[in-house]
Amino acid sequence: MHELSIVMGILRIAESETAKAGATNVDIIELEIGTLSGVELDALDFAWTQAVKHTVLEKAVKKIDLIEAKGHCLECDIVFPLEHIYDPCPKCQNYLKGIIQGKELRVKAIEVT
Ligand SMILES: [Zn+2]
Repeated sequence: MHELSIVMGILRIAESETAKAGATNVDIIELEIGTLSGVELDALDFAWTQAVKHTVLEKAVKKIDLIEAKGHCLECDIVFPLEHIYDPCPKCQNYLKGIIQGKELRVKAIEVT
């Protein structure tokens, strides 16, 4: 399962941050997840509850900042919201675009004790 490997990656970051701070627990962990990151939030929650048992993340409060995807049309230079990665520009219907945001998947902040 894709989400489980994501959680394991987050756990490794949390463990190293906790060790660096000489702490034993993560109180709060804040994640940034783009709407085009391919992460299923329900599946992530499920994988999370399975993976964090007996780890530094067991008691952590997980906060998720969802980042709405935005594209930039290379033809008419407008910025528009992207619901799907292959959405065309709403103004000129061009498919040539840059993704400005929405593919994020990262740990934004960790608070340890
Ligand atoms: Zn356009």
